[in-house]
Amino acid sequence: MKIILLGAPFSGKGTLARNITKDFNIVQISTGDLFRENIKNGTEVGLLAKKYMDKGELVPDSVTISMLQNRIKEDDCKNGFILDGFPRSIAQAKALQKITDIDAVIQLDVPLDEIKRRCVGRRICSKCGEIYNTSSYDKTTCAKCGAPLFQRDDDNLETITLRLEVYEKTTAPLINFYADRLKVVKGSEKGPEETYKPVKTFLKGLMR
Ligand code: AMP
Repeated sequence: MKIILLGAPFSGKGTLARNITKDFNIVQISTGDLFRENIKNGTEVGLLAKKYMDKGELVPDSVTISMLQNRIKEDDCKNGFILDGFPRSIAQAKALQKITDIDAVIQLDVPLDEIKRRCVGRRICSKCGEIYNTSSYDKTTCAKCGAPLFQRDDDNLETITLRLEVYEKTTAPLINFYADRLKVVKGSEKGPEETYKPVKTFLKGLMR
């Protein structure tokens, strides 16, 4: 099964994707994570991507699309994948159409107020990638594996504002682009498990 997850920064795409991968035996592909890995490894792609990420801008398509194309050719994608953070523009969506078919597009809909509340509090586990928010979890180590939590370099107010603007202008038009097969899911105030429930039912229905 091949799935696209749409949603603004901080809508909870990463957490939702992690839940889906556990139940449906498919891999999560986050283009943001791929860039961060490249930055950590000091690659050419990483050096270039960092310049854009630090400013909250999109990394150019020439780099992003070929990186994604290579990633989905890997063995662990044979059973399917969930795209978290790609496509982020109509141009990327059109490029994706030429690369592969997609079975489902899920839009995670979270009010802007809630997104703003979440943004500066996000913390991520340095080992297992679990995502927390200081509003509900104020420890500095992961509840699941005990490793230290960190805050992403681009999770600062200035960059966040720009990222939200880029989302509204460039990524949100994808909601119309995929209108004919869009499954809209409201981010639940009750937390990620509640948000995941309708998604799980929907995906199980697709598999029948
Ligand atoms: P994310 O981890 O999805 O929030 O992405 C972090 C940053 O990586 C974004 O603000 C962009 O600078 C870059 N990025 C991630 N995915 C894409 C994409 N599909 N196209 C262009 N830039 C991207």
